[in-house]
Amino acid sequence: MNSIPNTFGVIARALEVIDIHHVKDILSAYQKSQALHVPFLLMGEGSNTLFLEDFSGIVALNHLNHLEIKEQADHYLIEVGSGFLWRDLVATLLEQSIFGLENLALIPGTVGSAAIQNIGAYGVEFARFADSVTVLDLHSGELFEVKDGKYGYRDSIFKHRYQKGFVITRVTLKIPKQWQPILTYGELKALADEENLTAFSVYEKVIQARQAKLPDPKALGNAGSFFKNPVVDRDQADRLKIDYPELPIYPQSATQVKLAAGWLIDCCGFKGKKCGGASVHQDQALVIVNSENATGTDIETLAAQIQAEVKHQFGVELEPEVRFIDARGLID
Ligand code: NAP
Repeated sequence: MNSIPNTFGVIARALEVIDIHHVKDILSAYQKSQALHVPFLLMGEGSNTLFLEDFSGIVALNHLNHLEIKEQADHYLIEVGSGFLWRDLVATLLEQSIFGLENLALIPGTVGSAAIQNIGAYGVEFARFADSVTVLDLHSGELFEVKDGKYGYRDSIFKHRYQKGFVITRVTLKIPKQWQPILTYGELKALADEENLTAFSVYEKVIQARQAKLPDPKALGNAGSFFKNPVVDRDQADRLKIDYPELPIYPQSATQVKLAAGWLIDCCGFKGKKCGGASVHQDQALVIVNSENATGTDIETLAAQIQAEVKHQFGVELEPEVRFIDARGLID
């Protein structure tokens, strides 16, 4: 049995863990799993994944990390392997004076997961720069391009139509040469007054803000935000505002508003609460941490307690952002 890397630092093993450096390696790992009649899982660094138990099949670790930058008249096309670490891509492009991804600095995980998850932070989402995604059909061995990823809030076609039986091998980003800073979020607002603002100052600010609030998974296992921010009807938010005037709300449409999941969890008194070896982070209620040799089940149980209490107190359902894996694979 082989250990499966994951940023929660939960101990989980697979029948076999295979390093992937070429697309053909994915196919042979998959075919091996078929021959053995065991499940197959392609993984990056396991930054958004909770293992509830050992995995009974083959894990393929994605190291497809080629990078090609094509300069066009008014934009760059960035062709990047799906195993390239997102935070390294942001830093590499910035070093080459290609600006735009700085709000997405330091987000854990690979470029492939960034597309699946449509990662977002500080008012910018992956979708803003998505040009196309190359997908491998594991059954036929064919590669094809997806232009319309149907991106939504932490959602994409790669969580639906192209989930089972498909893997992402390459992502192409389109980044305009004309840099446009996005400074609409709290910590970044102050930068709007800066003369000679550069993408580097935005990058530094985002890194500072993230490091101040989020635990480093190498020091304290975690998977970033555990839950998505819930979107509710404006009427429901208006009713909640009567009892909770401080409740932060962010309009999404004429009838819907986004609530801050971390605020709801904090309000239920969960900061620092423990369940076995898992606990809610002291500084950021949206993050569950592995404080003391937590099992996947400790983390799952704590998450369920949070969901039940938030539902009880606010009538709001929290949906996990983290994906849960059992012995057979992804749990819906
Ligand atoms: P925060 O500033 O404490 O705000 C809490 C939530 O309110 C955020 O999640 C954000 O939603 C929303 N929000 C804040 N200002 C907003 C605005 N001007 N317009 C619309 N929505 C607003 O958030 P934080 O925890 O420090 O996180 C800062 C950013 O980094 C957020 O965008 C967050 O999503 C991102 N982040 C993501 C992860 C992850 O693991 N996925 C982890 C940490 C931080 P949104 O989440 O929809 O932006």
